[in-house]
Amino acid sequence: MELKTAQERVDEWIQTIGGGYFDQLTNMALLTEEVGELARIIARKYGMQVAKKGDLDKGLAEELADVLWVTICLANQCGVNLTDAFEKSIEKKTIRDAKRFVD
Ligand SMILES: [Mg+2]
Repeated sequence: MELKTAQERVDEWIQTIGGGYFDQLTNMALLTEEVGELARIIARKYGMQVAKKGDLDKGLAEELADVLWVTICLANQCGVNLTDAFEKSIEKKTIRDAKRFVD
């Protein structure tokens, strides 16, 4: 799925099933919450934290998708074209890090 399509799909869902966007501050809090859920899995699956029963019930892919969902919500309600923004991000990193990882 293209980023443009993902933004359209999320917007359609929010406008119909979701009943409208939460405000940006609420979505920022929700993004933080989702990043925390992702961190919990990473710490237990790849880090040194020991998983308790139920800690790994939700998968890494699910939590990454949750983070992406809220990120897309914020982009949509703030008028950000993620395709353009991501292209610029790759360009910025390419120029900035052209020789960074080469000895
Ligand atoms: Mg989640």
